[in-house]
Amino acid sequence: METTGAMEEIPRFAADRMMARLARWLRLLGADVICDQRLDGATMLRWARAEGRMMLTRDMRLRTAPDVLYLEPDDFRAQLRAVLARRPFDVHRHAFTRCSRCNVALRRVAREAVAERVPPYVYATQESFARCDRCGRVYWEATHPERARREIDRLMR
Ligand SMILES: [Zn+2]
Repeated sequence: METTGAMEEIPRFAADRMMARLARWLRLLGADVICDQRLDGATMLRWARAEGRMMLTRDMRLRTAPDVLYLEPDDFRAQLRAVLARRPFDVHRHAFTRCSRCNVALRRVAREAVAERVPPYVYATQESFARCDRCGRVYWEATHPERARREIDRLMR
C-alpha cells in the first residue's frame, strides 16, 4: 500500500451493530470507529452524520446514501478490504495506537508504571508500554508481534 503524507488524517467511521468485529479490527489499524451494540442503524446513522463519519453497515435500506458504505460480504477480511478501498490510509503507520475495545488513543506509559499490571516475563523482556486510559488495558510490543504484522499485510492484498 502507498504511504501517504505526514499530515494524513485518521479516518473516522461509525459501524452498525452487526459490524462489531470489523470495528475492532479497524481500531487496531488506527481508525477512529464508534460502534454501540445498543443502537439501531437509524440512530447510528444520525450520530455518524452529526460527527461527519462514514457509516459502515449491512443494512440494505441505507446503501444508496452518499455517506454510507454498504458492506455485503460476511467475511470481515473482505469487509476490511472494501473499507480500505473506499477510504485508504497508512495502516502500518497507525496500527496499534488505539484501544480495540474503547476506541481511545493509547498513551505511552513508563515501564515502572505498569510493573504490577503485566506478567513478570513481559515486564522483564519488553521496553515499551502503552495504556488505554478508559479500560486500563496495557499494550506492549508483544501484543502485536510479527504475526499481527503479517496478518495486516495479508488483509491488504
Ligand atoms: Zn480500552
